[in-house]
Amino acid sequence: MKIHRNCSLKKFNTFSVDEKAQLLLEVDNISDLANILSKQNRKDEILVLGGGSNILFTKSYDGLIINLKNKGKKIIQEDENSVLVEVSAGENWHDFVLWAIKNDFGGVENLSLIPGKVGAAPIQNIGAYGVELKDIFYSCKGLMLDSLSEFEFKKTECKFDYRTSIFKSTLKNKTLITSVKLLLTKSAHNFNIDYKDLNINLLNTELSVKKISDEVIKIRTSKLPNPKFFGNCGSFFKNPIVNSSKYKSLLDKFPNTPAHKVDADNYKISAAWLIDQSGFKNKKDKNVGVYENQPLVIINYGSATGNELLNFALKIKETIYSNFEIELEEEVIIM
Ligand SMILES: Cc1cc2nc3c(=O)[nH]c(=O)nc-3n(C[C@H](O)[C@H](O)[C@H](O)COP(=O)(O)OP(=O)(O)OC[C@H]3O[C@@H](n4cnc5c(N)ncnc54)[C@H](O)[C@@H]3O)c2cc1C
Repeated sequence: MKIHRNCSLKKFNTFSVDEKAQLLLEVDNISDLANILSKQNRKDEILVLGGGSNILFTKSYDGLIINLKNKGKKIIQEDENSVLVEVSAGENWHDFVLWAIKNDFGGVENLSLIPGKVGAAPIQNIGAYGVELKDIFYSCKGLMLDSLSEFEFKKTECKFDYRTSIFKSTLKNKTLITSVKLLLTKSAHNFNIDYKDLNINLLNTELSVKKISDEVIKIRTSKLPNPKFFGNCGSFFKNPIVNSSKYKSLLDKFPNTPAHKVDADNYKISAAWLIDQSGFKNKKDKNVGVYENQPLVIINYGSATGNELLNFALKIKETIYSNFEIELEEEVIIM
């Protein structure tokens, strides 16, 4: 275990924001955890941090930050068609995906190259290219931060939805996930290439988990900024979901509004399009701006503070509301 007192959070978040943590523990051994947590009186001041790729620090953190680094992957059940794997929360998500691809296990190929740790994947039900974590999720194990009691939540208990789960609502900041179980395919893979870019490049080719993963990596590398060079947390906002009457009124004013039907009465509108239409294309304000290839991504171009990044995001939010009467919701967690 590594102990950091009054340390900079800069290398612990992909926005590269230089706020401070009073106490940060890098924990690689789960058996140390209960001991550490039992000594912490104010359980509401514990923050579990993974790779810091979905969190914006706007001030110093005065409580205890646990940076989980426990490692391990094991097959706990398998038959001819499927395999149930348990992956430790501290494993890097993309390293795990590459391991699955190497073994020709299907289900995670569309989720290649998403930054962060396995333990954070259920928090916002990570998703990309038509697939969400919930499609392969079996359960997750962990500790309740207040009582230190152990839990194992099955899929239905996690209340997964678009970029959210029970861990972002009722149980927000109340749990520490130590491992995740995923049910992957071994044969008869359910390939999903419905997403436009994948479809164009892979239609009429012989599909494999490796081929889809490689294509996803290629597209993501060309479209998304690498946090090593430009501090960012991927999409800052969720794509807003509006009902059909709102969608109709949008179409009356803006006939080209890109949308995707979610169910009988709801449409998901492209937040990137709303941002572009509102004049934020390539917009930069000192150290902060939107990414040239993807306006949903807000960039720290230098040494921006968390508040500079947040204020820029709020400006986008206000403008979208005044132009379209749509309230954008942050995907990134603001601290
Ligand atoms: C370039 C880029 C592209 C991205 N693309 C996508 C994408 O395509 N799809 C997508 O869904 N996301 C995407 N993201 C967002 C991000 O990668 C995911 O949300 C990821 O799951 C965050 O993992 P993390 O370990 O960095 O979590 P952190 O940012 O460290 O934490 C996020 C939240 O989870 C909580 N948390 C973390 N670990 C645990 C744990 N073990 N137990 C309990 N709570 C925990 C934290 O307290 C915090 O509330 C992208 C980010 C970047 C930078």
